[in-house]
Amino acid sequence: MTRLIFLGPPGAGKGTQAKAIAHYRNIAHISTGDILRQAMKEQTPLGIKAQNYVDRGELVPDQLMEDLVLHRLSQPDTISGWILDGFPRTVNQACFLEQLLQKLEQHGEKVVNLEVPDDVVVARLLERGRKDDTEEVIRRRLEVYRSETAPLIDYYSDRQQLLMVNGNQSQEEVTTALTKVIA
Ligand code: ADP
Repeated sequence: MTRLIFLGPPGAGKGTQAKAIAHYRNIAHISTGDILRQAMKEQTPLGIKAQNYVDRGELVPDQLMEDLVLHRLSQPDTISGWILDGFPRTVNQACFLEQLLQKLEQHGEKVVNLEVPDDVVVARLLERGRKDDTEEVIRRRLEVYRSETAPLIDYYSDRQQLLMVNGNQSQEEVTTALTKVIA
């Protein structure tokens, strides 16, 4: 059973790699960023609430994200396994997830940290040019990453769940490295 949590700064390549591994293992790829962008496009109640935060590079409040993940992990396509890409992003969300997985009786999840140096990340995001990829918003997302999300590295390392992968290689090399550590 493959249950994976992808950690790493914005621009680390979580989305690209999660898509590749999910395809290869035939499991669900759950990207909270993609779900939010779709909700904003459709102007659903969640999308309307999230828009302001996303546009500014801030985190969407935990409660909204937790409801979203609770709902998504209860869908039948997650039974054969999943990759969480973009959640958890705070220690609060990680505690919530731990309890949720216990409730759902889903165990054995592994956490992969994609390591990429700061200057590489900024260059990649500027190149990507998504709506929330302006220089100012990128800077804010990295600050938020450092203060809110990076502490999860210690959180999962303390729980002996953490696997490290060098994300500063070609896409194919990262996929190969990932496949090895999760085998
Ligand atoms: P990136 O590719 O920069 O890591 P994502 O596509 O994962 O970005 O997410 C885009 C935006 O969606 C984030 O900057 C944030 O505003 C919001 N978001 C996504 N996941 C979460 C989460 N777990 N908690 C709070 N906000 C989130």
